[in-house]
Amino acid sequence: MDVSGASVLVTGGASGLGAATARRFAAAGAQVFGLDLQDSIDKAAPTDGVTLIPADVTDEAQVQGAIDTIAESGAPLRVAVNCAGVGWAARILGKDGPHDLGLFRKVIDINLVGTFNVMRLAANRMSEESTIDGDGQRGVIINTASVAAFEGQIGQIAYAASKGGVHAMTISAARDLARIGVRVCTIAPGTISTPMLAGVTPEFQKTLAEAIPFPQRLGEPDEYAQLAEFIVEHNYLNGETIRMDGAIRMAP
Ligand code: NAD
Repeated sequence: MDVSGASVLVTGGASGLGAATARRFAAAGAQVFGLDLQDSIDKAAPTDGVTLIPADVTDEAQVQGAIDTIAESGAPLRVAVNCAGVGWAARILGKDGPHDLGLFRKVIDINLVGTFNVMRLAANRMSEESTIDGDGQRGVIINTASVAAFEGQIGQIAYAASKGGVHAMTISAARDLARIGVRVCTIAPGTISTPMLAGVTPEFQKTLAEAIPFPQRLGEPDEYAQLAEFIVEHNYLNGETIRMDGAIRMAP
């Protein structure tokens, strides 16, 4: 699918993977709307072709408001990329934790419920647009899971659960939204160099990089954006979670 002249929504669009994705789709001629928290928008550098809209992905009214703003642009919404998320970690027990119920629920609310919220409201908007090819396609939704969904890591009980949920939701959503011509895929990144790693010491980042079979470095945000662009262009790709992680398999 060609995005030139279309609207593209990217949540978490002010930082990291979302910002890189917003830049890449803007460069391809799309009108890009990055949805993010006001704090992150305040820190973001302006990008040509990208409009940042403050909204919390867990809030239905705020997301609907952002989608209404996009509709007013006149360019049909064809792509929604869910990059908003938090990587908050804590041990289940002990002095480094506890990973109490409040924190668990917050991570699930942002990473899983927020993804569902945007996916549902974006799909609803896409259903109102005309089809664009002989296959009856209307749009593409890309979600972001993590290798944590498949490998698990100490301290990531809620994060792993939220990302496993995103993976499972993607298969179900792809089958459900097929009837309106919307494809749904997920990217499951390994360790990518973004502000989410701000709390990780350079020494541990080096350890993480050395654990990646090839290439032995952290991923770059634009490598995520390239894959997002590939998924949009590849009309036969649907319901798939693609790992993008240099073949890392985490130690138990
Ligand atoms: P990041 O911290 O640079 O960006 C995340 C963005 O999400 C921030 O701008 C933040 O403000 C926004 N956000 C958080 N909560 C929000 C909310 N409630 N409503 C709207 N926006 C909200 O992190 P990133 O590395 O770019 O992460 C993007 C996605 O990729 C996340 O879902 C993350 O879990 C996933 N991921 C990242 C990595 C990595 O190594 N960086 C690996 C695997 C998965």
